[in-house]
Amino acid sequence: MTHKVVIIGSGPAGLTAALYAARANLEPLVIRGIQPGGLIATTSEVENYPGFPDAINGYDLAEKMEKQAARFGTQFLDGIVERVELAERPFKLHVDSGAVIEAETLIVATGASPRKLGVPGENELANRGVSYCAVCDGFFFKEKKLVVVGGGNSALDEGLFLTKFASEVSIVHRRDSLRADPVLEARAKANPKINFVWDTVVTSIKGTERVEGVMLKNVKTGEEMEAAADGVFPYIGHIPNTWLFKGQLDLDDEGYIKSDGRTRTNVAGVFVCGDVEDHIYRQAITAAGTGCMAAMEASWFLDNLDHQHEGLGTW
Ligand code: NAP
Repeated sequence: MTHKVVIIGSGPAGLTAALYAARANLEPLVIRGIQPGGLIATTSEVENYPGFPDAINGYDLAEKMEKQAARFGTQFLDGIVERVELAERPFKLHVDSGAVIEAETLIVATGASPRKLGVPGENELANRGVSYCAVCDGFFFKEKKLVVVGGGNSALDEGLFLTKFASEVSIVHRRDSLRADPVLEARAKANPKINFVWDTVVTSIKGTERVEGVMLKNVKTGEEMEAAADGVFPYIGHIPNTWLFKGQLDLDDEGYIKSDGRTRTNVAGVFVCGDVEDHIYRQAITAAGTGCMAAMEASWFLDNLDHQHEGLGTW
């Protein structure tokens, strides 16, 4: 069986693409991928997704999106795509179960994954004090000392969330000013459990069975020091999940999939949405918006319609 629309990825981009494709009777198949629900499902409080004035837990938001897409007939597959063949249509997707799925159109919504610090101890102590998901693991750090690395919205958001459990949260940032929004900066600075360590990087993570501390280096003075810590949460940005498409889809210098501004890639019939192509906005709402665009473009493509045509169908 050849599917009309297959979507790889189940974050806000993929699920919104599914919702729109399902409502256009395209019976989309979503392959959930490595992180069902996408990164948003690992986020504590989402305060800036319209429609939720009192904030919503990221996991709950992803679940609602999935239910909404399922209501109109989206099919879901738990699996990881290991190889794609995009040279001709139908495209072929090789899934880890051994199945080969055929698709008339493909919507790539594979998102981005947390960037690693790349320091000694990080891999060795993963899940033993090193975590990239405060909402998943914060509970295990009651009355513990934590280090959060980064100066963006994620570091502050998740640092604030961790104060619900930890006795102390040190936010280690490589500069002396934050990239995060002023509202989060003000909230973090007002929180008595949070302290900032400026102009500083983590050079290694110490511990045998579990994290016991970090080595820090001041990038201005060169001074090094060891600090006790029970957990380390790196929040230093993301890397787009595009290894699957190397050599088949055009990527930019940072590895993001290139599109023409209308979610179309260099391969006719392959569309891209969300964080795997967006290194500027990277919000759940912008991912959802491009997911909608990708589904509409896929539908127009299948109908062989002129892309300038306005007001097609009932969306
Ligand atoms: P980000 O905005 O790219 O911030 C990454 C932070 O990590 C920056 O402060 C950066 O330092 C630092 N960094 C990068 N590489 C590093 C390295 N090798 N070593 C040490 N530090 C390093 O990433 P993000 O915070 O994950 O946010 C991603 C996107 O999601 C953003 O658009 C953000 O607005 C959005 N977001 C929004 C919310 C919200 O609105 N509540 C919450 C979470 C995320 P420099 O500042 O020096 O570059």
